[in-house]
Amino acid sequence: MPDVFADLVGQDEAVVELRRAAAAAAAVLRAAAADRAPALLAAGPTGGDEPEAAAVPGGPDVSTGMTHAWIFTGPPGSGRSVAARAFAAALQCVHGTGCGECPGCHTTMGGTHADVRLVEPEGLSIGVNDMRALVLRAASTPSGGRWQVVVISDADRLTEAAGNALLKAIEEPPPRTVFLLCAPSTHPDDVSVTIRSRCRVVPLRQPPAAAVAEVLVRRDGVAPDVARWAAAAAQGHVGRARRLARDPEARKRREAVLAVPRRLTGVGAAFDAASALIEAAEAEAEASVSEADTTERTALERALGAGGTGRGAAGAMRGAAGQLKELEKRQKSRATRAQRDALDRALVDLAGFYRDALTMALRAPVDPVHTDTAAMAGAGAQKWDAEGSLRRLEAVLACRAAIEANVKPRIAVEAMMLALWKG
Ligand SMILES: [Zn+2]
Repeated sequence: MPDVFADLVGQDEAVVELRRAAAAAAAVLRAAAADRAPALLAAGPTGGDEPEAAAVPGGPDVSTGMTHAWIFTGPPGSGRSVAARAFAAALQCVHGTGCGECPGCHTTMGGTHADVRLVEPEGLSIGVNDMRALVLRAASTPSGGRWQVVVISDADRLTEAAGNALLKAIEEPPPRTVFLLCAPSTHPDDVSVTIRSRCRVVPLRQPPAAAVAEVLVRRDGVAPDVARWAAAAAQGHVGRARRLARDPEARKRREAVLAVPRRLTGVGAAFDAASALIEAAEAEAEASVSEADTTERTALERALGAGGTGRGAAGAMRGAAGQLKELEKRQKSRATRAQRDALDRALVDLAGFYRDALTMALRAPVDPVHTDTAAMAGAGAQKWDAEGSLRRLEAVLACRAAIEANVKPRIAVEAMMLALWKG
């Protein structure tokens, strides 16, 4: 039976470190049960002589033991949140190992453990009110008798105020609370220097395509040849590879994106391609959030008494307008984020195509990202040479950077399409 770390693809070093920490954490609980050393950091290879030593300024314990705050970093799709969830399960595991079979493991992996809270920003950022409420709840005694675990899946999307609220909690952590943050990197743009200095960092790498293909076959029952193709096309992004292998719509969208290079025959065609790309991202985002939007709105309206015919109903509805407005604001923000994510996926696919053209022009001995458009990339390599291929690849990457820096997506994509056409 695979344990909770089995889905962490191609991250052997991180898994070793997390297993060790989970064992140290279990030792802390055993010691506490024996009423010897209740402080979290008393355990681990450093021994119990100076139980407070690692908790004071100077940052987390750098030994192999357990600590209160962690940051999982790595490129998108490397499995940051998968790693955090697996570690949370190992902390709640009754055997302290992340066996994958006990109730602690099961409920954590299934997202229903009472002492594991997962924070996923709905909009573009995590606000201070959410964070304060969370920090407060995280300070309570774990109902299961082990740890209160808070997983913050996009710590780079914390607002400054929310970051400060979190920092306070990390600086003076309740004895049984563990914070698991996920972020693309420890760059100050992603995680504040002060939060970073209080956390142990677990760097994840982009998993090799072979490892991604292996997990698709083993866990998802994907045919080996499809798994190999999807793993390569997804460029190390495990979730994306799974979607490509299983969802015909995702495959269709990818094909439309990869048809862009041969559609760029003039200025008009470049603008058309830009519109098509933006609209496809909007449609994909709409499909992904519309169901949740409707469910939330119906639930809120019901809670607020909409549809009631009693005398109080009209008045209650007037008071509810503010709450509905608040919900609409949150939903709009989530839709914006979904659009950006969809557009970014398209740009990564496109970058992969020009990267293939570049490696072919250079005759570099590497496998293409997109095996199914390799012939087209080869033709591009002939026509553009290495220099022209590189300029086009850079145009795609510049577009991603511009959108990241809040340039209006349509403007950034139009500029990119013109650059791709002109070379
Ligand atoms: Zn277990």
